[in-house]
Amino acid sequence: MLTRIDLRGSTTDPRRLLPRAAIDVTAATEAMRPIVESVREHGADAVRAATRKFDGVELARLRVPVEALGRAADALDADVRAALLESIGRARTVHADQRRTEVTTTLVPGGTVTQRWIPVRRVGLYVPGGLAAYPSSVVMNVVPAQTAGVEGIAVASPPQRETGLPHPAVMAACSLLGVTEVYAVGGGQSIAMLGYGIPGECEPVDLITGPGNVWVTAAKRLLRGEVGIDAEAGPTEIAILADDTADPVHVAADLISQAEHDPMAASVLVTPSVTLADQVDLQLASRIGSTKHSERVTTALTGPQSAAVLVDDLAQGLTVVDAYAAEHLEIQTRDARSVAERVRNAGAIFVGAWSPVSLGDYCAGSNHVLPTGGCARHQSGLSVQTFLRGVQLIEYDEPALREVAGHVVALANAEDLPAHGEAVTARFPR
Ligand code: NAD
Repeated sequence: MLTRIDLRGSTTDPRRLLPRAAIDVTAATEAMRPIVESVREHGADAVRAATRKFDGVELARLRVPVEALGRAADALDADVRAALLESIGRARTVHADQRRTEVTTTLVPGGTVTQRWIPVRRVGLYVPGGLAAYPSSVVMNVVPAQTAGVEGIAVASPPQRETGLPHPAVMAACSLLGVTEVYAVGGGQSIAMLGYGIPGECEPVDLITGPGNVWVTAAKRLLRGEVGIDAEAGPTEIAILADDTADPVHVAADLISQAEHDPMAASVLVTPSVTLADQVDLQLASRIGSTKHSERVTTALTGPQSAAVLVDDLAQGLTVVDAYAAEHLEIQTRDARSVAERVRNAGAIFVGAWSPVSLGDYCAGSNHVLPTGGCARHQSGLSVQTFLRGVQLIEYDEPALREVAGHVVALANAEDLPAHGEAVTARFPR
């Protein structure tokens, strides 16, 4: 079922041997450029034209009436409502604990540096809605922004063909979270709308976050610099580092669960156990026919981005998962916690048999917007921190400045910037 990559005995850098989705963001960026430019120049007309073309929807208005959000919340299935409220509650608890606190360091009496954390003023949060609806992504975007103290929150999510509105569950989640500014706009055109703004319709934002497909990612690349952009969170990935203690049923179910997102999703098993790899293959084959999105799952699992990677032992397994830097990494081994502590690169790590990725997708309290495509080597997932900027307050009194003045002058002269030193000595005339 899964392509097998045998790295046993290999000393080559595993990064080049590992599977990765062939997503050409660069090509998508070139295709997206005229659309983004058009939104900048022609505003709502260009957004409507792109929505007509890519979503098959004629948008009467871009912004969703607040009453429609409330109606969606009222109509929400009771179990889904309870689950969303649980998800929101857990995410709020975890994210509140992760808030940074102001730190003041006193270097000398009268000389302090204070690190303040100031929320971004206005943000645009993208909630995908092409192949699946993601009310959970509303929670994962909105909770950290609200916890950080962001004043202006605008959510954008693709319109449904039948209604011209975002998916009802997405609207309901916005309502439950108290978000009132929601746009029925998806894809790259929504990123351009949020970034450049549309006079009278949408005020430009300072930062855009949220996962999305390759078109969303491409538009975010084009807008980067114009506005802040979070990590690239594209087609989803799971890597599972498992040994012979792992239950093949759990492993197969978790690989399938991520494959369900997208035909381009990646499911990778890394194991020193050939027996486990064989058993997982059998489980995949037996479960795949009965899973609802069988076709999408099959495409993802048999695509070049998915594989079972055989390694000599867990030490090599750790080298491989670090090289892969998965968005989601599960550790299903003996002594899973200590193995997890040795991992360097992953968007989020799910430890042991009872922490599947789908728990984190919805109700763990953690955030599910995570870096994909190997970006976990250098980027973090969405968090309260994403919505805060660190600003330092430097406050010295006269004796404190006098005490260090000589050093400032010496360094200024060493850099041949004597006016820098003079800005200090001017304060202390003989
Ligand atoms: P999406 O909302 O990202 O994209 C749908 C939009 O794409 C449409 O509104 C349309 O305007 C635009 N589009 C479609 N075809 C186009 C084309 N040919 N050219 C230009 N624009 C086009 O929804 P999706 O497609 O379902 O993708 C969601 C992605 O987000 C999936 O890959 C999923 O795995 C990922 N995801 C990632 C995370 C994460 O944290 N990494 C979380 C949730 C979802």
